[in-house]
Amino acid sequence: EALSAGIQAAVFDAAFAGVSPDPAIIRADRSQPEFTRPVWEYLDSAISATRVRRGQALLAEHASTLQAIEQRYGVDRHALVAIWGMESNFGQYMGDKSVIAALATLAYEGRRPAFAHEQLLAALRILQHGDVQPSRMRGSWAGAMGQTQFIPSTYNQFAVDFDGDGRRDIWDSSADALASAAHYLQKSGWQSGQPWGVEVTLPSGFDYALADAEIRKPISEWRQLGVNNIPAADDQARAVLLLPAGHRGPAFLVLDNFRAILKYNNSTSYALAVGLLGDRLQGRGEIRAAWPLDEKPLSRSQRIELQDRLSARGLNPGPADGIIGANTRKAVRAFQQSQGWPADGYPTLHLLQRLQE
Ligand code: CA
Repeated sequence: EALSAGIQAAVFDAAFAGVSPDPAIIRADRSQPEFTRPVWEYLDSAISATRVRRGQALLAEHASTLQAIEQRYGVDRHALVAIWGMESNFGQYMGDKSVIAALATLAYEGRRPAFAHEQLLAALRILQHGDVQPSRMRGSWAGAMGQTQFIPSTYNQFAVDFDGDGRRDIWDSSADALASAAHYLQKSGWQSGQPWGVEVTLPSGFDYALADAEIRKPISEWRQLGVNNIPAADDQARAVLLLPAGHRGPAFLVLDNFRAILKYNNSTSYALAVGLLGDRLQGRGEIRAAWPLDEKPLSRSQRIELQDRLSARGLNPGPADGIIGANTRKAVRAFQQSQGWPADGYPTLHLLQRLQE
């Protein structure tokens, strides 16, 4: 198959020399953690004081490279350094798995074999292009590689040679890694000069159902709806209202750059951490509102039970997979509305208990 996809026999042989299935990869792929950390704990460890200090030192150390990257791609250096910190702790933890062995194992018996299969062919194309030696092509068990933790298809689309040595090296060249991340964000719709998002406050009686990833409104309209304390931002820019821990926690208006970060990694907590870490590198980004510390996130089995019970009430939360996606949020919202509760779409233990009655 690789040969018919245009991979040379010698490239294939070098890539697969000594490769055998790795049971540790399969164990990692099948592990589904029962407990989830609350978002505030995740943010605390993502935005540790050590990481902020290290990021600030690297901003100074790489100032001229970052300046050149900003000029070429229009992506804010603080967001880039924040992503660098989140993905690999600034190049310190890139993963030590052979990417070929990991993807071959996942293509053979992983949970998403077709995806791994496609990534394996993309990885062979990288080797054929000569950017990296097979022995250096290392990454996470899932095939995320280098300082930017790009999967091979993302690498083929967005990796760039910024230091000019002829190779796109996201492992050993921080200039290549940072510029590749900037290129990816630029192509994902990054808006130069705009914030990723801003913390806001909501008036009492606010309709929390408006906090929905599908509802994007210009900042001016949010202001008319009573959203308060909006720091300087372009009034015409469109934003989504985000309540990462439901209506009892902090509220944010998030703009296009938040969406661009989500293309990098489709997790709201991740994008929030990148945005806030970037702010923190500039000496701001402290969250003003309190988190609902007494509220434990639902465990995986509780989330599955929630979906089953919403489903039994005809609220269509989607498959009972324990993943709280758009459909489950919609179903939660509908149930909250039926109870006369604030309809923030955020599942709590209290809500699950009401469903159990
Ligand atoms: Ca290079």
